[in-house]
Amino acid sequence: MSYYRTPRENINFVLFDVLDSQCLSQTERFADATEEIFSAVIDEAGKLAENVLLPINESGDRQGAKYDPETKTVTTPEGFKEAYQIYQQGGWSGLSADPEFGGQGLPHLLKMVVDEMVCSTNLSFGMYPGLSHGAIDALTMHASSELQDKYLGKLIEGEWTGTMCLTEPHCGTDLGLIRTKAEPQTDGSYNISGTKIWITGGEQDLTDNILHLVLAKLPDAPNSSKGISLFLVPKFLEDGSRNPAFCGGLEHKMGIKGSATCVMNFEGAKGWLIGEENQGLKCMFTMMNAARIMVGMQGLGLAETAYQVSLGFAKERLQSRSLTGPKAPNEAADPIIVHPDVRRMLLRQKVLNEGSRAMAYWTGLHMDLSHSLEDQDARQKSDDILQLMTPVVKSFLTDEGFFSIDQALQSMGGSGFTQDWPVEQLLRDARISRIYEGTNGIQALDLVGRKLTMNGGRLARTYFTELNAMLSEISNDIHKANCLAFMKALQGSLVWLAKEAIQDPEQAGAAATPLLRMFALTSIAVLWARMADTASKEDVAAKYNAEFLGSKVKCADHFYRLYKPEMSALHEEVCAGKDTLMTFSEGEF
Ligand SMILES: Cc1cc2nc3c(=O)[nH]c(=O)nc-3n(C[C@H](O)[C@H](O)[C@H](O)COP(=O)(O)OP(=O)(O)OC[C@H]3O[C@@H](n4cnc5c(N)ncnc54)[C@H](O)[C@@H]3O)c2cc1C
Repeated sequence: MSYYRTPRENINFVLFDVLDSQCLSQTERFADATEEIFSAVIDEAGKLAENVLLPINESGDRQGAKYDPETKTVTTPEGFKEAYQIYQQGGWSGLSADPEFGGQGLPHLLKMVVDEMVCSTNLSFGMYPGLSHGAIDALTMHASSELQDKYLGKLIEGEWTGTMCLTEPHCGTDLGLIRTKAEPQTDGSYNISGTKIWITGGEQDLTDNILHLVLAKLPDAPNSSKGISLFLVPKFLEDGSRNPAFCGGLEHKMGIKGSATCVMNFEGAKGWLIGEENQGLKCMFTMMNAARIMVGMQGLGLAETAYQVSLGFAKERLQSRSLTGPKAPNEAADPIIVHPDVRRMLLRQKVLNEGSRAMAYWTGLHMDLSHSLEDQDARQKSDDILQLMTPVVKSFLTDEGFFSIDQALQSMGGSGFTQDWPVEQLLRDARISRIYEGTNGIQALDLVGRKLTMNGGRLARTYFTELNAMLSEISNDIHKANCLAFMKALQGSLVWLAKEAIQDPEQAGAAATPLLRMFALTSIAVLWARMADTASKEDVAAKYNAEFLGSKVKCADHFYRLYKPEMSALHEEVCAGKDTLMTFSEGEF
């Protein structure tokens, strides 16, 4: 059953009309990234998603990845191997990778658009090449030229895949606790020993080799996160011999069942240092912006599909009559889309999905600008926005993606809960995105503890300057006033935080999650004002149909109706501080 169509109009509208992303082609680095190139790539990605990945999504969920304890190998679900070949031959692995190593050097923003479509149609499949991108970034930025020459090309061509081996049985968030050991060898390599768990794509049958990026500790390393180093550990060594890095089993999970989540045993496997000794966590951090935003796109991609399914259902399912009299008098009942409560669920999905897409692309555009603009101050400004918004995009898109799919399921009644429809799988698949790549609670701490305090608070100042610049171009006074109310609530919360957190870090810990949500809602409020304004421009009217454009102003109004009151509530929650949280003794729980 085909239940997803690339939301092409919405993607184009945000990319080219709202954000003018084609401005990237004016930079030397992205000179090829014209609107035509963007469009051609998105067309092809749409075909891949709709024709190759979607048809094996449900079967992949039902079959799951399989482990053979005899051979310690993993078999991916039927069709994944063939789909991977198509993915690889299409050059998708190297879309945004460095041309020096065989990549296409296109903007990361374009890769985000492609990621959204891949995640919309088959998240389990997307995880296999998805983890390679982190490995590509880490090797490009930190590996010696010798390692780059040997391994980067194969990763970028997609001939091999990469993994990220961080988590261990006793530690996920607090990586300072890892026990995996790296013993230096006389030939300059290291012997890696230890067990990693929940390693995505740790073993698979899609590629001939797998490159594991492993966090481990040197014998004399400090006993904290400052003592972690990063190593490259190939499954097969250059001479073709098997490196002792074996899969010990697969996790049985509630979702993404087609993605192999592996226990990995490193039994004195040969590895090579990436970057400097004891700087492993720093190396991981530099590649985390892209990886976290990619996880955000998972939430959005799945929510988009759920919206499409539930909207189609609401137009077809006949139940009860409209409260204002029959709308389909020739039928036994009206389609459920006439009912205010069903509309409430559909419209919440719509304004959040479209608003989240605008926020994510806006952040992605700043990522590319931070790497390509000539003017140093302008680069810095874009980097500030990228740094600040990365945890916001990761958390908000995955939290709201999940809740949005839940609204889709609810709006479909019992049908949504059954496997006759794809929404229950989407809900199960989406759940993990709120946990991995740093839980959403940890993202909020990153925002409050690191990003807001960096450079004397400069990131937040840059953020508000940028929002004010966008607002100064908005012609709708009511939208403008609404946006100012969002900004005022957020600024009020930040003032409270600045005062309280200095004296007591637990105040910041208590405020972190509601504060992150305020950043997301404020960003989307301003972007909705901009989308509504853009929709009323003459040159834009020629490109889209009237209903598509007309819906934008209504969506902006609906967004303010839904979330302006929540901003006041969130502000109150922030300022309530830690008291009712921290006064409970453990026995009182
Ligand atoms: C399907 C799947 C795929 C995965 N893929 C990979 C992979 O490819 N590579 C890899 O290395 N790992 C992977 N992981 C692991 C994943 O990244 C971790 O699960 C995640 O980082 C959280 O760690 P944890 O589960 O140990 O939770 P814990 O660290 O035990 O945290 C438990 C809870 O406590 C909270 N918490 C912890 N510390 C704090 C704090 N200081 N302040 C506030 N709250 C806190 C957390 O937010 C969370 O809610 C995967 C996991 C799954 C389930």
